[in-house]
Amino acid sequence: MRVGFCGGGLGGISAAIGLADLGFDVDVFERSPLLRATGAGLNLWPNAGRAIYGLGLRGRYDAISVKLNRYLGFNPDGTPLFEKDTSDWALRYGAPSVGVHRFALSSMLAETFGMDRIKFGYEVVSIENNADKVVCHFSNGESYEGDVIIGADGIYSTVREQLIGAVPFRQNDHHAYRYRAVINLSDVDVDPAAQTTFCSPGGWMAVIPVGNGKAYWFGSVFGVKNLDEFIQFFSSWTRTHIPRTLSITPRDTIVESPLYDVDIPYKWTHGRVTLIGDAAHPMMPDLAQGASQTFIDALALREAFAKTNNADEALHAYESQRRPVAYHVVKCSQKGGFLGKNKVDPVAVRYEREVEASTAASL
Ligand SMILES: Cc1cc2nc3c(=O)[nH]c(=O)nc-3n(C[C@H](O)[C@H](O)[C@H](O)COP(=O)(O)OP(=O)(O)OC[C@H]3O[C@@H](n4cnc5c(N)ncnc54)[C@H](O)[C@@H]3O)c2cc1C
Repeated sequence: MRVGFCGGGLGGISAAIGLADLGFDVDVFERSPLLRATGAGLNLWPNAGRAIYGLGLRGRYDAISVKLNRYLGFNPDGTPLFEKDTSDWALRYGAPSVGVHRFALSSMLAETFGMDRIKFGYEVVSIENNADKVVCHFSNGESYEGDVIIGADGIYSTVREQLIGAVPFRQNDHHAYRYRAVINLSDVDVDPAAQTTFCSPGGWMAVIPVGNGKAYWFGSVFGVKNLDEFIQFFSSWTRTHIPRTLSITPRDTIVESPLYDVDIPYKWTHGRVTLIGDAAHPMMPDLAQGASQTFIDALALREAFAKTNNADEALHAYESQRRPVAYHVVKCSQKGGFLGKNKVDPVAVRYEREVEASTAASL
């Protein structure tokens, strides 16, 4: 079976590893000239870990990630607000909750698949979706013909647009932007095995260790329109490390992400083309589930193809298993954050209740 992935992000490369393991002839086409180094860190939950372990990457994943034993919450004056112990999650749920550097994770995946097997500088511009063959055309004038094409090209997917046209993006009701950056762990006075969050109804900021002496901070503030306003919001939180952390973080390393999802459970599979990851289920980052659901897609795709040589059956099985679960998580992710207007619980409590309890059986 010849399978082409459009997009060499977390989803494309992890799913390519899974199908290459089955002996398929797999190609990954990535529009960037190099492995993308943008982004900061990720919080990945036990469901992501189980999927990554299922792809045979347990040792490599454990080596680059930091186990999070606690989720700690503080008020803007530094007084404790909540604590959730997650130290037994690896035993209870089959994998720990972790912090990981995004580039360390994508490098690990790319090296496992084979960096030289990823075709960088290949931007998919159109697709011909024929009965039992699919052709991708790239902006460099080249083409590729496969038995199956997987659209792993992220939230603004060209493959999805070719399949179903434009989708309506919905802006986050709670925060328009999220800001994040990687810093030295020694620059912040936090528990090195915890996610530490400082929260208020108007805004919040958290720190997660990601290994190699680094951590990343991330946060959102209601109503801010740019980084200056975000920084200004925290200027009075002087009993926390936040004003100092923001002042020492080089501005050009701070990533600004506008927050969108798509609240329509559109069909992913059309003929021999399907979607995975953000192309399939763009979601808000408030539950930190986007990449976790993407790794579950990758494993589900591999398991579907392991059961049958019939590509149509495998794609149908993959979508039937994954689409309802992913849409459930899209909906849960719309509720916003702790102390926000929907009065939801801290994210680690929500993970157990809204994700693990209702979706674990589907992995
Ligand atoms: C602010 C923020 C914080 C987040 N934090 C977390 C978190 O803590 N935990 C978590 O689980 N998730 C988190 N997520 C979600 C996570 O980043 C995504 O769900 C995940 O990256 C999806 O992987 P993907 O491979 O589908 O898409 P991407 O990572 O976007 O990769 C898509 C790839 O396709 C390439 N591409 C695009 N168009 C084309 C084309 N036409 N041709 C070829 N290649 C193309 C891109 O260059 C890119 O490399 C967060 C998201 C945001 C915005």
